[in-house]
Amino acid sequence: MNAVEIDLDHRNAWAETGVKAGDYTKATGEQGLATGFGDTPKVGVGGITLSGGIGFLVRKHGLTIDDVLAAEVVTADGQLVKVDEKNHPDLFWALRGGGGNYGVVTRLLFRLHEIDEVLGGMLMLPASADVISGLIAAAEAAPKELSIIANIAKAPPVPFVPAEYHGKPIVIAPMVYAGDVEAGERAIAPIRAVAAPLADTVRPIRYPEIQRA
Ligand SMILES: Cc1cc2nc3c(=O)[nH]c(=O)nc-3n(C[C@H](O)[C@H](O)[C@H](O)COP(=O)(O)OP(=O)(O)OC[C@H]3O[C@@H](n4cnc5c(N)ncnc54)[C@H](O)[C@@H]3O)c2cc1C
Repeated sequence: MNAVEIDLDHRNAWAETGVKAGDYTKATGEQGLATGFGDTPKVGVGGITLSGGIGFLVRKHGLTIDDVLAAEVVTADGQLVKVDEKNHPDLFWALRGGGGNYGVVTRLLFRLHEIDEVLGGMLMLPASADVISGLIAAAEAAPKELSIIANIAKAPPVPFVPAEYHGKPIVIAPMVYAGDVEAGERAIAPIRAVAAPLADTVRPIRYPEIQRA
């Protein structure tokens, strides 16, 4: 169950819940459109959506559930029902954040946004208390187009991270500026100024590619 049906006139898409976030984003990206999922292409749209969904478009467009317009659900008594704001509104409310507790969701109708080229990539920073609090302050002050996901983890032994940081805590911060690339460069400048990055892959990139990365 991995079909994606895009309706360009209404700017939305029905997705069967077996489709992976990356495959959905690739299909809609061919039309220059996107729905925000997480930072990983391999999660299923069913699982990420039913638990909320925080990703690269969260500050501009909200959680994944904010873009859910309708769903088809098999309820515990075996009925297939369509739910939206008007039909079974209580079930529609519960699905948006309630996880898998309310039935088996077979299809979801998502709103699509015009998103094609963005400024995106990843900064790796040393994970000191000053850097982490500086990053949070700069991220909060940034325009809504910029969403950053900051992970704190031990640096992997990869060639582009200086050897003295391997195995030490660092901040791995993938980010997307979902707007004009030049404005994005200005928005990301204060983030880059928090500390000299250990690695910096932020560049103009098509949205499906950063989601796949
Ligand atoms: C590497 C990695 C990165 C991640 N990054 C992010 C991120 O950036 N942002 C974010 O928000 N989340 C992120 N997550 C969390 C992810 O969204 C959840 O783990 C999500 O539940 C995965 O869904 P799944 O369908 O792949 O997994 P599954 O294990 O198949 O589903 C998880 C649960 O969701 C329910 N469920 C799934 N499909 C249905 C359905 N069709 N009907 C009813 N219930 C259903 C079930 O309760 C199921 O147990 C990440 C997870 C991983 C592993």
